[in-house]
Amino acid sequence: MNNIYDVIILGAGPAGLSAALYAGRSCLKTLIIERGQDGGQIASTDEIENYPGQMVEGENGRSLVARMSEQAKKFGAERISDDIRSVELEGEVKKLVGGRGEYYGKTVILATGASPRPIGCRNESEFVGRGISFCATCDANFFEDLEVYVVGGGDAAVEEAIYLTKFARKVTVIHRRDQLRAAKSIQEKAFRNPKLSFIWDSVVEEVGGEDVLNRMTVRNVKTGGVTTYEADENDGLFGLFGFIGMNPNSGLFEGMVDMDHGYIKTDENMRTSIPGVYAAGDIRVKSLRQVITAAADGAIAAVQAEKYLAEQE
Ligand code: NAP
Repeated sequence: MNNIYDVIILGAGPAGLSAALYAGRSCLKTLIIERGQDGGQIASTDEIENYPGQMVEGENGRSLVARMSEQAKKFGAERISDDIRSVELEGEVKKLVGGRGEYYGKTVILATGASPRPIGCRNESEFVGRGISFCATCDANFFEDLEVYVVGGGDAAVEEAIYLTKFARKVTVIHRRDQLRAAKSIQEKAFRNPKLSFIWDSVVEEVGGEDVLNRMTVRNVKTGGVTTYEADENDGLFGLFGFIGMNPNSGLFEGMVDMDHGYIKTDENMRTSIPGVYAAGDIRVKSLRQVITAAADGAIAAVQAEKYLAEQE
């Protein structure tokens, strides 16, 4: 156990990268562990309108996050690619075990974020990557000039539906109610878009197709009526994008830290129920899940970790 970090940050989304920046600037020996690419959910967002100062022409989630990563590195944070499979969070030194090694830290910041919630229809898993997607920025170009359906009625669903109209021939939003939850400004943009239409009060019940998605049944929750949608013969397939919220990536910490519906409970200083363990970003119980609040959480968690370390000396 010769290499003990002051702070280990699990997850390189905006919360983790902001924590790494603050920890690095405080000259703490900092390690950030990420199993995939940096950025988390924001890396798959095409347009960010509500991050202060973010008005750079052509900027998207990926380029914004690339600068965050660069900044964290500049202040000395180390980064390792590994998939952490178990953690021991109690005690003075915390242990994280991944596929490629074991990591030890005096404090840990949990910033593992959340993942898209499945649509919940029959046969869904068979068609993920074969018509079903949860990331418009990643997959929109596969549906150039085809028909696309979007499930959901929040900011994400409506914004991504608008984005998809740049590629698809026609985009139809399927929403379980007759009113959108999305911000009014986003709704107005959507209602003005001639390529966008809506199926209200409805849920996708089943998807099907030979090899790729080309059939789905949609149930009207008010009338109980079921409609089958089939891909145009010349197209052979259509797209189905799900944006119905997120599930927290917290399974690894279950039974260790206090949680509420899978989200980690913290105080206003990002402290969890275990001393020296903090949670930042979408993984924790909070009222507003945005890049800006994730970044703020990360900063607070790092500053608190520094205070905790000073108290332990
Ligand atoms: P959200 O606001 O929670 O919306 C989820 C949508 O999915 C709702 O319309 C909900 O319907 C629907 N839904 C939930 N479960 C469903 C199910 N089982 N079957 C069918 N539909 C279901 O989630 P979000 O859009 O992902 O946004 C998450 C957070 O990020 C929000 O705070 C949002 O404001 C923020 N965000 C902001 C931006 C931005 O640029 N400002 C962009 C994306 C996200 P009901 O309405 O009936 O509940």
